[in-house]
Amino acid sequence: MVRENEIREAEVAVEMPPTTDAGLIFIGRIYTPWTSRMETPRQGRTDGPVCRIEIFEPWVAALDSLGQFERIEVLYWLHLSRRDLVMQSPANDGTARGTFSLRSPARPNPIGTSIAQLVGVEGSVVTVRGLDCLNGTPLLDLKPDRGLFTPIAPSQPGDFQVGDP
Ligand code: SAM
Repeated sequence: MVRENEIREAEVAVEMPPTTDAGLIFIGRIYTPWTSRMETPRQGRTDGPVCRIEIFEPWVAALDSLGQFERIEVLYWLHLSRRDLVMQSPANDGTARGTFSLRSPARPNPIGTSIAQLVGVEGSVVTVRGLDCLNGTPLLDLKPDRGLFTPIAPSQPGDFQVGDP
């Protein structure tokens, strides 16, 4: 069951330690059709709606060569999530599981990731299908899908190769 920020039976919240400044910066913003968590898909689908990612300056130059990839990994900050739950009840049925065994948006560092189908890159805008975040969600990073990426530098023993499981 998709949630807002309520505490459910069997869930456990802890007192949040003070946050540390990891130096994260939001490099853009994601525009999707969803304005309520209750309507946002739990995981993106590649046949989902086209969503628009706007990259802020000075990071637009970093989009160079991204367009050659069919799929990209999108990392975002699930900014409305609560961060203090260690046990969660996704089904709201009186049972709970540890946060790290779930892909719930409620986690100490609410980072969401999706493998998205790249539709296009034009100027400062990247369009993709396959997201599951609210309209206005801050963007943390974009990377080529690991399975499509061959390291540019000469390979080293133990490197991942395209086609590896
Ligand atoms: N695909 C990502 C992952 O696996 O890391 C996120 C999955 S999470 C289950 C997706 C849910 O997070 C959505 O259904 C919605 O309820 C919630 N959500 C989406 N955007 C959010 C935001 N900006 N802040 C808080 N919750 C959000």
